[in-house]
Amino acid sequence: MRVLSGIQPTGRFHWGNYFGAIKQYIDLQENEQAFYFIADLHALTTIRDGKRLHQNTMEAAIDLLALGLDPQKATLFRQSDVPEITDLTWILMTITQLSLLEKCHAYKDKKEKGIAADAGLFTYPVLMAADILLYDSDLVPVGQDQIQHVEVTRDLAQRFNSLFGETLILPESRVLDTSAKVPGIDGEKMSKSYKNVIEIFEDPKKQRKKVMSIKTDSATLEDPKNPDTCAVYALYKLFANDEQQAELAQRYRAGGMGYGEAKQAVHDAALEYFGPARERREQLAADTSTLNDILAEGAHKAREKGKQVLDRVQAACGLGSKH
Ligand code: ATP
Ligand code: MG
Repeated sequence: MRVLSGIQPTGRFHWGNYFGAIKQYIDLQENEQAFYFIADLHALTTIRDGKRLHQNTMEAAIDLLALGLDPQKATLFRQSDVPEITDLTWILMTITQLSLLEKCHAYKDKKEKGIAADAGLFTYPVLMAADILLYDSDLVPVGQDQIQHVEVTRDLAQRFNSLFGETLILPESRVLDTSAKVPGIDGEKMSKSYKNVIEIFEDPKKQRKKVMSIKTDSATLEDPKNPDTCAVYALYKLFANDEQQAELAQRYRAGGMGYGEAKQAVHDAALEYFGPARERREQLAADTSTLNDILAEGAHKAREKGKQVLDRVQAACGLGSKH
Protein backbone atom coordinates (compact mmCIF):
# COMPACT_ATOMS: atom_id res chain seq x y z
CA MET A 1 0.00 0.00 0.00
CA ARG A 2 1.24 3.52 -0.81
CA VAL A 3 1.11 6.00 2.06
CA LEU A 4 1.58 9.67 1.30
CA SER A 5 1.54 12.84 3.36
CA GLY A 6 2.94 16.36 3.26
CA ILE A 7 3.78 18.96 5.84
CA GLN A 8 4.25 22.68 5.25
CA PRO A 9 7.54 24.38 6.11
CA THR A 10 5.63 27.48 7.29
CA GLY A 11 7.44 27.46 10.63
CA ARG A 12 8.98 25.00 13.03
CA PHE A 13 6.90 21.90 13.74
CA HIS A 14 4.72 21.83 16.81
CA TRP A 15 3.11 19.26 19.07
CA GLY A 16 -0.02 19.19 16.86
CA ASN A 17 2.03 18.34 13.80
CA TYR A 18 3.83 15.60 15.68
CA PHE A 19 0.87 13.84 17.31
CA GLY A 20 -1.53 14.48 14.42
CA ALA A 21 0.77 13.61 11.54
CA ILE A 22 4.50 12.93 12.05
CA LYS A 23 3.99 10.14 14.58
CA GLN A 24 1.82 8.33 12.05
CA TYR A 25 4.47 8.84 9.35
CA ILE A 26 7.01 7.07 11.51
CA ASP A 27 4.71 4.18 12.41
CA LEU A 28 3.62 3.62 8.81
CA GLN A 29 7.10 3.62 7.28
CA GLU A 30 7.71 0.18 8.81
CA ASN A 31 5.33 -1.82 6.66
CA GLU A 32 4.12 0.41 3.85
CA GLN A 33 5.63 2.19 0.87
CA ALA A 34 5.75 5.64 2.35
CA PHE A 35 6.19 8.95 0.50
CA TYR A 36 6.54 12.03 2.71
CA PHE A 37 7.18 15.49 1.37
CA ILE A 38 7.89 18.98 2.59
CA ALA A 39 5.15 21.09 1.07
CA ASP A 40 7.11 24.16 0.02
CA LEU A 41 4.70 25.00 -2.83
CA HIS A 42 1.88 25.16 -0.29
CA ALA A 43 4.02 27.26 2.06
CA LEU A 44 4.50 29.82 -0.70
CA THR A 45 0.95 31.01 0.01
CA THR A 46 2.23 32.13 3.45
CA ILE A 47 5.96 32.90 3.15
CA ARG A 48 7.15 35.45 0.64
CA ASP A 49 10.83 35.42 1.51
CA GLY A 50 12.97 33.08 -0.57
CA LYS A 51 15.79 32.72 1.94
CA ARG A 52 13.39 31.98 4.76
CA LEU A 53 11.38 29.42 2.80
CA HIS A 54 14.54 27.58 1.81
CA GLN A 55 15.83 27.67 5.38
CA ASN A 56 12.49 26.44 6.75
CA THR A 57 12.45 23.59 4.24
CA MET A 58 15.88 22.39 5.33
CA GLU A 59 14.93 22.71 9.02
CA ALA A 60 11.76 20.72 8.32
CA ALA A 61 13.77 17.90 6.75
CA ILE A 62 16.15 17.84 9.73
CA ASP A 63 13.23 17.80 12.18
CA LEU A 64 11.53 14.88 10.41
CA LEU A 65 14.74 12.84 10.38
CA ALA A 66 15.46 13.66 14.03
CA LEU A 67 11.95 12.55 14.98
CA GLY A 68 12.53 9.13 13.43
CA LEU A 69 11.73 9.33 9.75
CA ASP A 70 14.14 6.84 8.18
CA PRO A 71 15.21 7.52 4.57
CA GLN A 72 16.04 3.82 4.16
CA LYS A 73 12.41 2.98 4.78
CA ALA A 74 10.49 6.03 3.54
CA THR A 75 10.97 8.40 0.62
CA LEU A 76 11.47 11.98 1.85
CA PHE A 77 11.35 14.75 -0.74
CA ARG A 78 10.68 18.38 -1.40
CA GLN A 79 7.38 19.08 -3.18
CA SER A 80 8.93 21.57 -5.61
CA ASP A 81 11.47 18.98 -6.78
CA VAL A 82 8.64 17.22 -8.64
CA PRO A 83 7.41 19.76 -11.22
CA GLU A 84 4.87 17.23 -12.57
CA ILE A 85 2.77 18.25 -9.59
CA THR A 86 1.83 21.58 -11.12
CA ASP A 87 0.90 19.96 -14.46
CA LEU A 88 -1.53 17.69 -12.67
CA THR A 89 -2.82 20.60 -10.58
CA TRP A 90 -3.82 22.49 -13.72
CA ILE A 91 -5.56 19.48 -15.20
CA LEU A 92 -7.54 18.99 -11.98
CA MET A 93 -8.28 22.71 -11.77
CA THR A 94 -10.19 22.47 -15.05
CA ILE A 95 -12.67 20.03 -13.49
CA THR A 96 -12.96 21.69 -10.05
CA GLN A 97 -16.22 23.46 -9.23
CA LEU A 98 -15.73 26.74 -7.35
CA SER A 99 -18.47 25.73 -4.93
CA LEU A 100 -16.38 22.76 -3.83
CA LEU A 101 -13.49 25.05 -2.83
CA GLU A 102 -15.75 27.63 -1.20
CA LYS A 103 -16.84 25.00 1.32
CA CYS A 104 -13.29 24.18 2.48
CA HIS A 105 -12.66 24.97 6.15
CA ALA A 106 -8.97 25.84 5.93
CA TYR A 107 -9.78 28.68 3.53
CA LYS A 108 -12.91 29.76 5.40
CA ASP A 109 -11.16 29.72 8.80
CA LYS A 110 -8.12 31.67 7.63
CA LYS A 111 -10.35 34.19 5.89
CA GLU A 112 -12.42 34.64 9.06
CA LYS A 113 -9.23 35.25 11.03
CA GLY A 114 -8.48 38.12 8.67
CA ILE A 115 -5.61 36.34 6.86
CA ALA A 116 -5.73 37.71 3.29
CA ALA A 117 -6.95 35.07 0.84
CA ASP A 118 -5.43 34.84 -2.61
CA ALA A 119 -5.98 32.33 -5.40
CA GLY A 120 -3.20 30.16 -3.99
CA LEU A 121 -4.91 29.72 -0.63
CA PHE A 122 -8.29 29.25 -2.30
CA THR A 123 -7.06 26.54 -4.68
CA TYR A 124 -4.81 24.85 -2.09
CA PRO A 125 -7.05 21.75 -1.99
CA VAL A 126 -6.51 21.22 -5.74
CA LEU A 127 -2.73 21.29 -5.32
CA MET A 128 -3.19 18.91 -2.40
CA ALA A 129 -5.32 16.59 -4.55
CA ALA A 130 -2.54 16.56 -7.14
CA ASP A 131 0.01 15.80 -4.40
CA ILE A 132 -1.94 12.72 -3.44
CA LEU A 133 -3.12 11.51 -6.85
CA LEU A 134 0.25 11.92 -8.62
CA TYR A 135 1.71 8.95 -6.72
CA ASP A 136 -1.27 6.55 -6.78
CA SER A 137 -1.58 7.00 -3.01
CA ASP A 138 -3.92 4.72 -1.07
CA LEU A 139 -3.63 6.16 2.41
CA VAL A 140 -3.06 9.71 3.70
CA PRO A 141 -2.17 10.07 7.41
CA VAL A 142 -3.33 13.52 8.58
CA GLY A 143 -4.85 15.48 11.44
CA GLN A 144 -8.59 16.11 11.57
CA ASP A 145 -8.30 19.47 9.78
CA GLN A 146 -7.23 17.74 6.58
CA ILE A 147 -10.00 15.13 6.31
CA GLN A 148 -12.08 17.48 4.21
CA HIS A 149 -9.23 18.04 1.77
CA VAL A 150 -8.81 14.31 1.29
CA GLU A 151 -12.55 14.18 0.56
CA VAL A 152 -12.05 16.88 -2.08
CA THR A 153 -9.27 14.75 -3.54
CA ARG A 154 -11.62 11.77 -3.76
CA ASP A 155 -14.29 13.93 -5.42
CA LEU A 156 -11.84 15.19 -8.02
CA ALA A 157 -10.44 11.73 -8.75
CA GLN A 158 -13.95 10.38 -9.15
CA ARG A 159 -14.92 13.23 -11.43
CA PHE A 160 -11.80 12.75 -13.55
CA ASN A 161 -12.45 9.02 -13.80
CA SER A 162 -16.06 9.51 -14.80
CA LEU A 163 -15.10 12.02 -17.50
CA PHE A 164 -12.01 10.32 -18.91
CA GLY A 165 -12.19 6.68 -17.77
CA GLU A 166 -10.62 4.87 -14.79
CA THR A 167 -7.27 6.60 -14.32
CA LEU A 168 -6.82 7.81 -10.75
CA ILE A 169 -6.80 5.90 -7.47
CA LEU A 170 -9.18 7.13 -4.73
CA PRO A 171 -7.27 7.61 -1.43
CA GLU A 172 -8.48 7.22 2.16
CA SER A 173 -7.48 9.47 5.04
CA ARG A 174 -6.09 8.06 8.30
CA VAL A 175 -6.66 10.09 11.46
CA LEU A 176 -5.73 9.05 15.00
CA ASP A 177 -8.67 9.59 17.37
CA THR A 178 -6.41 10.36 20.29
CA SER A 179 -4.62 13.26 18.63
CA ALA A 180 -6.88 14.38 15.79
CA LYS A 181 -6.98 17.99 16.98
CA VAL A 182 -4.28 19.04 19.41
CA PRO A 183 -5.17 22.33 21.17
CA GLY A 184 -2.80 25.31 21.22
CA ILE A 185 -2.06 27.63 24.14
CA ASP A 186 -5.30 29.53 23.46
CA GLY A 187 -7.37 26.32 23.44
CA GLU A 188 -8.00 26.49 19.66
CA LYS A 189 -6.45 24.06 17.15
CA MET A 190 -2.69 24.39 17.42
CA SER A 191 -1.58 25.84 14.09
CA LYS A 192 1.57 27.56 12.85
CA SER A 193 -0.47 30.36 11.33
CA TYR A 194 -2.49 31.00 14.51
CA LYS A 195 0.63 31.75 16.60
CA ASN A 196 -0.56 29.50 19.41
CA VAL A 197 1.98 26.71 19.03
CA ILE A 198 4.46 24.97 21.25
CA GLU A 199 7.30 23.83 19.03
CA ILE A 200 8.74 20.34 19.33
CA PHE A 201 12.29 21.68 19.62
CA GLU A 202 11.42 24.84 21.51
CA ASP A 203 14.08 26.25 23.81
CA PRO A 204 13.19 24.71 27.23
CA LYS A 205 12.80 28.06 28.95
CA LYS A 206 10.50 29.38 26.24
CA GLN A 207 8.60 26.10 26.26
CA ARG A 208 7.96 26.45 29.99
CA LYS A 209 6.76 30.01 29.55
CA LYS A 210 4.35 28.95 26.81
CA VAL A 211 3.05 25.94 28.74
CA MET A 212 2.45 28.16 31.76
CA SER A 213 0.40 30.51 29.58
CA ILE A 214 -2.07 27.84 28.36
CA LYS A 215 -5.59 29.15 28.77
CA THR A 216 -7.63 27.54 31.57
CA ASP A 217 -10.91 28.32 33.31
CA SER A 218 -11.01 30.34 36.53
CA ALA A 219 -11.36 27.42 38.97
CA THR A 220 -9.43 28.00 42.21
CA LEU A 221 -6.89 25.60 43.67
CA GLU A 222 -9.47 23.80 45.84
CA ASP A 223 -12.13 23.50 43.13
CA PRO A 224 -12.68 20.14 41.43
CA LYS A 225 -11.72 20.42 37.76
CA ASN A 226 -12.95 18.74 34.62
CA PRO A 227 -10.10 17.05 32.71
CA ASP A 228 -12.26 16.53 29.61
CA THR A 229 -12.61 20.24 28.88
CA CYS A 230 -9.10 21.28 29.85
CA ALA A 231 -6.40 21.98 27.23
CA VAL A 232 -3.64 21.31 29.79
CA TYR A 233 -4.99 17.83 30.42
CA ALA A 234 -5.49 17.22 26.68
CA LEU A 235 -1.81 17.98 26.15
CA TYR A 236 -0.68 15.89 29.11
CA LYS A 237 -2.50 12.88 27.63
CA LEU A 238 -0.30 13.01 24.54
CA PHE A 239 2.84 12.37 26.55
CA ALA A 240 1.62 10.19 29.40
CA ASN A 241 0.79 6.49 29.67
CA ASP A 242 -2.69 5.26 30.69
CA GLU A 243 -1.84 5.04 34.35
CA GLN A 244 -0.40 8.56 34.50
CA GLN A 245 -3.43 9.91 32.64
CA ALA A 246 -5.86 8.24 35.06
CA GLU A 247 -3.93 9.58 38.04
CA LEU A 248 -4.00 13.17 36.83
CA ALA A 249 -7.70 12.90 35.89
CA GLN A 250 -8.45 11.71 39.41
CA ARG A 251 -6.51 14.58 40.98
CA TYR A 252 -8.36 17.05 38.74
CA ARG A 253 -11.74 15.71 39.84
CA ALA A 254 -10.79 15.62 43.53
CA GLY A 255 -9.82 19.30 43.68
CA GLY A 256 -6.84 20.62 45.62
CA MET A 257 -4.49 20.64 42.65
CA GLY A 258 -3.82 23.86 40.76
CA TYR A 259 -3.40 24.25 37.00
CA GLY A 260 0.19 25.39 37.62
CA GLU A 261 1.14 21.93 38.83
CA ALA A 262 -0.54 20.25 35.86
CA LYS A 263 1.26 22.61 33.50
CA GLN A 264 4.61 21.81 35.09
CA ALA A 265 3.84 18.11 34.53
CA VAL A 266 3.15 18.79 30.82
CA HIS A 267 6.42 20.71 30.48
CA ASP A 268 8.48 17.96 32.14
CA ALA A 269 6.79 15.17 30.18
CA ALA A 270 7.39 16.94 26.86
CA LEU A 271 11.08 17.54 27.59
CA GLU A 272 11.54 13.89 28.41
CA TYR A 273 9.52 12.65 25.44
CA PHE A 274 11.43 14.65 22.82
CA GLY A 275 14.82 14.42 24.59
CA PRO A 276 16.37 11.76 22.31
CA ALA A 277 15.10 13.56 19.17
CA ARG A 278 16.72 16.79 20.38
CA GLU A 279 20.07 15.03 20.55
CA ARG A 280 19.70 13.47 17.10
CA ARG A 281 18.74 16.85 15.70
CA GLU A 282 22.03 18.40 16.69
CA GLN A 283 24.02 15.74 14.85
CA LEU A 284 21.87 15.97 11.73
CA ALA A 285 22.03 19.76 11.56
CA ALA A 286 25.81 19.58 11.38
CA ASP A 287 25.76 17.45 8.20
CA THR A 288 24.05 19.34 5.36
CA SER A 289 25.63 17.30 2.58
CA THR A 290 23.97 14.07 3.78
CA LEU A 291 20.71 16.00 4.05
CA ASN A 292 20.97 17.21 0.45
CA ASP A 293 21.71 13.66 -0.71
CA ILE A 294 18.64 12.32 1.09
CA LEU A 295 16.39 14.95 -0.52
CA ALA A 296 17.89 14.40 -3.99
CA GLU A 297 17.44 10.64 -3.75
CA GLY A 298 13.87 11.11 -2.49
CA ALA A 299 13.03 13.51 -5.32
CA HIS A 300 14.37 11.04 -7.87
CA LYS A 301 12.18 8.21 -6.58
CA ALA A 302 9.08 10.38 -6.25
CA ARG A 303 9.53 11.85 -9.71
CA GLU A 304 9.83 8.47 -11.32
CA LYS A 305 6.44 7.47 -9.95
CA GLY A 306 4.94 10.90 -10.62
CA LYS A 307 5.94 10.85 -14.28
CA GLN A 308 4.23 7.49 -14.80
CA VAL A 309 0.95 8.71 -13.37
CA LEU A 310 1.07 12.04 -15.21
CA ASP A 311 1.63 10.15 -18.51
CA ARG A 312 -1.46 8.09 -17.76
CA VAL A 313 -3.49 11.21 -16.98
CA GLN A 314 -2.31 13.07 -20.08
CA ALA A 315 -3.07 10.10 -22.29
CA ALA A 316 -6.57 9.83 -20.81
CA CYS A 317 -7.47 13.46 -21.46
CA GLY A 318 -5.73 13.92 -24.80
CA LEU A 319 -2.73 16.02 -23.80
CA GLY A 320 0.76 15.53 -25.13
CA SER A 321 1.60 13.02 -27.86
CA LYS A 322 0.58 9.84 -26.08
CA HIS A 323 -3.11 9.67 -26.82
P1 ATP B 1 -0.44 26.12 8.82
O1 ATP B 1 -1.00 26.95 9.95
O2 ATP B 1 0.67 26.78 8.05
O3 ATP B 1 -1.51 25.49 7.99
P2 ATP B 1 -0.28 23.78 10.44
O4 ATP B 1 0.27 23.96 11.79
O5 ATP B 1 -1.75 23.65 10.30
O6 ATP B 1 0.32 24.93 9.56
P3 ATP B 1 0.23 21.90 8.33
O7 ATP B 1 1.56 21.84 7.65
O8 ATP B 1 -0.91 22.58 7.65
O9 ATP B 1 0.43 22.52 9.79
O10 ATP B 1 -0.22 20.43 8.69
C1 ATP B 1 0.68 19.33 8.73
C2 ATP B 1 -0.01 18.14 9.32
O11 ATP B 1 -0.21 18.36 10.72
C3 ATP B 1 -1.39 17.88 8.73
O12 ATP B 1 -1.56 16.50 8.57
C4 ATP B 1 -2.33 18.41 9.77
O13 ATP B 1 -3.57 17.73 9.75
C5 ATP B 1 -1.56 18.13 11.05
N1 ATP B 1 -1.92 19.06 12.10
C6 ATP B 1 -1.74 20.41 12.09
N2 ATP B 1 -2.19 20.95 13.23
C7 ATP B 1 -2.69 19.93 13.99
C8 ATP B 1 -3.31 19.86 15.29
N3 ATP B 1 -3.47 20.93 16.03
N4 ATP B 1 -3.71 18.63 15.74
C9 ATP B 1 -3.53 17.52 14.98
N5 ATP B 1 -2.96 17.53 13.75
C10 ATP B 1 -2.53 18.71 13.26
MG1 MG C 1 -2.61 23.69 8.29
